[in-house]
Order: sequence, then C-alpha cells, then structure tokens
Amino acid sequence: MTTETFEFQVEARQLLQLMIHSVYSNKDVFLRELVSNASDALDKLRLEKLRDDSLDADVSDLHIRIDVDKDARTLTVRDNGIGMSYEEVGRLIGTIANSGTATFLKELREAQEGGDAEGLIGQFGVGFYSGFMVADEVTLVTRRAGESQGTRWTSRGESTYTLERADDAPQGTSVTLHLKPADPENQLHDYTSPWKIREIVKRYSDFITWPIRMVPETAGEGDAAPEPETLNSMKALWARSRDEVSDDEYHELYKHISHDWREPLETIRLQAEGTFEYQALLFVPAHAPHDLFTRDFQRGVQLYVKRVFIMDDCEALLPPYLRFVKGVVDAQDLSLNVSREILQQDRHIRMMQRRLTKKVLSTIKEIKAKDADRYATFWREFGTALKEGLVTDSENRDAILAVSSFATTHAAEPTTLAQYVERMKDGQDDIYYITGESRESIENSPHMEVFRDKGVEVLLLTDAVDEVWVDAVGEYEGKKLRSVAKGEIDLDGKSDEKADGEREKQAEEYAGLLGWMQEQLDEDIKEVRLSARLTVSPACVVSDSHDLTPALENMYRAMGQEVPRTKRILELNPDHLFVKGLNQAYKEREDHSGLVESAELLHTLAVLAEGGRPKDPARFVKLVADRLERTL
Ligand code: ADP
Repeated sequence: MTTETFEFQVEARQLLQLMIHSVYSNKDVFLRELVSNASDALDKLRLEKLRDDSLDADVSDLHIRIDVDKDARTLTVRDNGIGMSYEEVGRLIGTIANSGTATFLKELREAQEGGDAEGLIGQFGVGFYSGFMVADEVTLVTRRAGESQGTRWTSRGESTYTLERADDAPQGTSVTLHLKPADPENQLHDYTSPWKIREIVKRYSDFITWPIRMVPETAGEGDAAPEPETLNSMKALWARSRDEVSDDEYHELYKHISHDWREPLETIRLQAEGTFEYQALLFVPAHAPHDLFTRDFQRGVQLYVKRVFIMDDCEALLPPYLRFVKGVVDAQDLSLNVSREILQQDRHIRMMQRRLTKKVLSTIKEIKAKDADRYATFWREFGTALKEGLVTDSENRDAILAVSSFATTHAAEPTTLAQYVERMKDGQDDIYYITGESRESIENSPHMEVFRDKGVEVLLLTDAVDEVWVDAVGEYEGKKLRSVAKGEIDLDGKSDEKADGEREKQAEEYAGLLGWMQEQLDEDIKEVRLSARLTVSPACVVSDSHDLTPALENMYRAMGQEVPRTKRILELNPDHLFVKGLNQAYKEREDHSGLVESAELLHTLAVLAEGGRPKDPARFVKLVADRLERTL
C-alpha cells in the first residue's frame, strides 16, 4: 500500500504551529473538540440514513468511545459515524475553509506580539487541530459510511501529513493522540488517567446526546474485560428544569454549537406549551464573528425534533438581522424528515420565529435596563446587524428602536432616541442626524456648522444601513428624523421677523449671482440658493428632502440597480468673504465669463467638504494651482 505525503495549506500550517507551541492555557478543551466532532459525525450519519435507507451503514449502536493506554501514552476518540472518504480527509483536515481564517491569522500574529493570542484562539476555536496542544503525533483512521475502503492520516503537526489506504478501518473515525511526554510536575494533566478523562467529559460534554463510553481500568491481569461505562448523562439541557442546570453547563453547550471558545453574553430559555410545543435555548455571543457581514455567513440555530438533531443553521427560526444568535430549538411536532423548504412555509414555524424574535428583543431590553456595560458590549458587537431589522421588520420596529443607540454630538457615549428627545431644545421639532463614513469626517462637515453654532444635537450615523433605516422609520414619537444635509434648515424658527427681513434683503442682493451660477452648473446642480446652515464654509451641497443621498445612490449601484443621477442643491454662505467678493464682481462686471472658474471652484469645494470626489480631479487641481500661482 502506498503512502502519499502532502503539504498542509499555508494557513493550516500556521494554525498547527500555534497549537503545537500552544498559547492556550486550558489544554483540556482538546477533548471537548474531538468529542464535538465525533458527535457531529454521528448526527450526520443518522440523518443520511434517514434520508437514504439504502445506505450501507450500521446505525444500530451509534456512540463515541474513548480509550486510554498508559504504557503507550495514547488517547483515542472513536466514533462509528459518517466517517470521511480519502478525498475528504485531505480537504477537511489538510486545509482550513473558514473565510475568516486569513484575517484571523493576521490578527493572531499581531496579538502574539502583544501577548493576547489566547483570547483570539478562543474566539475562533480550531477544532481538530487542538489535539496538537497535547500530542506530538496524531493518527486518524476513518471510513466513510457506505464505502468499503478506509483512510489513514498521520501528522506530527509540522509541514506535512501522510495519507494511505486502510483496508481494515471500521465505519466512522478514530483519532489517536500520541501524547507528549508526561510532565512529572503536573500530574493534574495526565490524559491517560481515566479519572481525568471522566472529569473532562462530564464538564464539557455531558449534554452530548450520544453515549460517550470508556472502559474503566482493569483490576489486574487475567480479569474479564470490564463493561464500558457511559460517562455522560446525555440529557438535553433544554429539556431539564432551569434550576437543574448550571450556567457553566449552558456555556459548554454554547461552545459546542458555536465553535466559539468563549462564554456567551447571554443565555435565553423559552418553553412553549400548547398545540405546538417546543423548547428553545438561545445564546447571544459576546463577540461578533468576523464574517457576520459576508454573504456566506452561516446563520441560524440548530433544529431538533424530540431530542433528535435535524439540522444546523436553520434560517427559518430567526430573521436575518438576528443571525448572530446561536442555539437550539427542539420542536415536538415536526416530522423527522422535515426539509428547509417545508420549514420556510410552515405556519407553526413562522409563529415560532415571531415568538423567538420577540423573546430575543425583550432579553436585550432587559440587559439594557439592568447592565449598561453588558448592553454597551452587545451594541458595539451587534448593533449594526440589529439596525437592519428597523428596515425589514416593521412589526418589531419599536422594540428594536427601544434597544438601539447612536453616536451623537452630545457626548462620547451613544444615545437612545428617547434620551435625545428629552434633551431637545424648546422650539426644536425634529431629530437631526448626519450620515457619512466616519465620526471625524461628518463631525467637521459644513452641514454641521449652524448646528454646532446653536448647540443643536445631531446624531452621527456611520453604518451603511443607517442611510436606509432613517427613511424607513421616518419619525420617532411624532418627531421627524431629518438629515442635516437635506432640505432647508431653519433653526431660528418661523416667527423670527428680524431674521426674516435680513434674509429677504440678502436674497435680493444675491438674486443675480444665484441665477447665473445655476446656469453655469446646470449639469450637476438643480438650484443655487443662500444657506442657513453655514457659518464658516463658503458653500455646501445638499439634497432635496426626498432625494436619494449620494451614499445611497452608490449603494444601489453597487447592488447592480440602475438609479438616475440626482442633481443636488448648492448652498452659498452669504457672509463668507469669497462669496461676498464674487457677488460684488458679478454686479460690477458686464462680462461674467471671467467668473466661471470661481463658480466651478466653489461647487467643487462644497463637494470635497462633505467627503465627495471632484468630477474632474485633474481640472480642479489645475484651477487651484493657477490661483495659488497668482498669490505668489
Ligand atoms: P470544525 O469542526 O470547526 O469544522 P475541525 O477542524 O474540527 O473543524 O474539523 C474539520 C472537518 O473535518 C469537520 O467539519 C468535519 O467535516 C471533518 N471531521 C472532523 N472530525 C470528524 C469525525 N470524527 N468524523 C467525520 N468528520 C470529521
């Protein structure tokens, strides 16, 4: 039989190196990871057999078995589950598919220098490779259910692994760890001790629904081989009463489901009685996964039917904006054969989704009321995702708004809309916001000038989704949500007669210039008018109240939709010296062609000031350079 040697994929090799020179102090978790993989393999086989009865596989006694050999210093975790084909072993064990891995490794290298690598490892969890924390060689023998030939994989965790055919492999997978030499200083971590194994399994894997067996130590030579004992209670945590289960146990289930090695932020339990009975055990993680905003993010919770695992990532149970929630839902009255398509249409499932959604939102509300720090963590990690719900879930809009907070000019910490409204000045009717890419860039935008001047609070919205939900929501407690970059701004109030008179006078003075500039800039600008929002800058561009903002236009284009280009409005600051001078020149001269460049510059400056790009950057640079030259 030939043995083939392969190189690990680069990322896989880097991860392995990390495991070998392990930065993770709690090495016991390797066993949790191997048992977790074995349990998944049993679930998969049971499902496959259910769907295809002709599959030539033995499902009569699905279980996990752990064997230790003190003399050989090996530990073996065996399952009789789905197994892997020769090709699968190379692909699944030799490479890392996770889309976030490259980012993860980059951060890990940086963290290692900073000494915080342990937290990052915990964040990702690295499954099978964690065996290399305690072993200097790992052998995996596997046979895919239904196939006749098995595969043996071996590696010392360095740059290569070997693959060979194994004729005698039983169905399923066994992973044998050749443990690193015993540490006489540290007897507590002797993984050949059945006592130690029992303890680890009890702590991390008690809820696994398949039996985890181990043969106890033999009393002496010649004794009959003892019966294997089952180490775990196999009781589904969600089926046990609340006071029977410790927080630690819940957290271990979370880790098993999520592949996150850290504690969740919150555990949510729900028992629904009645015609459609189900139990749910949901978790809000403490950290957003790296791929939360990628298209291929695997969302959804696990679906069980009467304690039997049915599917991972069941999308039908929670709306997309709660895709970060992990957990288990166990329904009593579904068919074991239920498919994703059926679930999407099922009336009971839809009711379940509504109930679970409300439960998650009310839990977030409780966190917010009880614990400001934990709420702040939640919002930092998942606020952006949750805000999608303001657009897509009108039924729960108020509940989502109630737990949403936003950056504001009022303080460094975010504010709720309720708090904003409480602080509103006498005579202020609307809730003002500005959208853009970063707090710094929008805080200094010309659109903000008059608000800063008059001390009017503005919400600073910097997520892409902000552009959308503000329109979808429209108002809060009868107060309109208004962009500082849209429509006319009148912070003085209509009743201010003196201001009105002043404005009329200015309007007359500038009428000629405004009309002429409008003609010059007609291609991009639908109106040139005097501004009530500028105190420092010469000009700014704004949108009409119902126009798409440039950011939104770009977003739609990026999604492949055709949107007509919206012309914008140019506002001039009549108190700015450049604008005043331009008006003067306009009035004095008969021939205005010498002012065209100034009009053009004014427009481009306004575009730049809000973070936009000049239409023709080269021309803009030339115009500015020419003028600078004249000032020398
Ligand atoms: P993860 O479990 O997070 O996907 P692992 O590195 O632990 O990552 O495992 C990679 C893949 O190898 C698994 O997704 C699974 O497809 C396969 N695998 C691991 N252990 C087993 C096993 N005992 N039986 C069958 N397949 C397994």
